Amino acid sequence: MKRRVLIAAAAFLGCLSLIACAHLHQARHTGCVIFDEFPQTASLFQPDVRPFIDQIISRHGPEEWETVVLTSEFHTHLGIYSIIGAKMGLRAREYFGADRDGLTVLSFAGRQPPISCLNDGIQASTGATLGHGTISLADSPLRMPKARFTRGNITICLELKQAYRQRVEDDIARLIERHGPNSDNYWSSVRQVGIRYWADWSRNDIFHLTVVQNE
Ligand SMILES: [Zn+2]
Repeated sequence: MKRRVLIAAAAFLGCLSLIACAHLHQARHTGCVIFDEFPQTASLFQPDVRPFIDQIISRHGPEEWETVVLTSEFHTHLGIYSIIGAKMGLRAREYFGADRDGLTVLSFAGRQPPISCLNDGIQASTGATLGHGTISLADSPLRMPKARFTRGNITICLELKQAYRQRVEDDIARLIERHGPNSDNYWSSVRQVGIRYWADWSRNDIFHLTVVQNE
């Protein structure tokens, strides 16, 4: 348990250091910041995640694995919208071929959980953070799992497709009805649903991508 806590702490510190050092324009995949290499050994991870490690890495790649691990440590729980935000930010980086800290972001996810949990996944995956001043929230009363990503003169919009959003909303409503909000059982069930979406949902399938500006 103690070792697990140390690994979690190291992952979190690695995340912070990675973000803090991003202005030095370190290429993300020349290596980790704190880790010599990012851990993939099953015994270092929580028992409910272990069976999915190989599946997640082979289906979505090591970068998404690392990003969702760091997102979850930073976010302090393994949630649904935070995972979707991590997948969204990574999808945006792939569109632009950008390293971390290569994009600016305008989020439409607001400040109210659970949808605003998207913002933490976006920050961890893109390196566009409040600390850097490179992410901001749209001044809109509507909260949506949607964000605009800009590099140079090009802006794209990524939004979770309605069918996936409906599935998330139905799952959350069902879990609240079954366990009550904020109960231990509710949060452990959210975690199980999150792990399933992490493993099953491809960042190439779940978002509408539109080019907002290209000049
Ligand atoms: Zn959350």
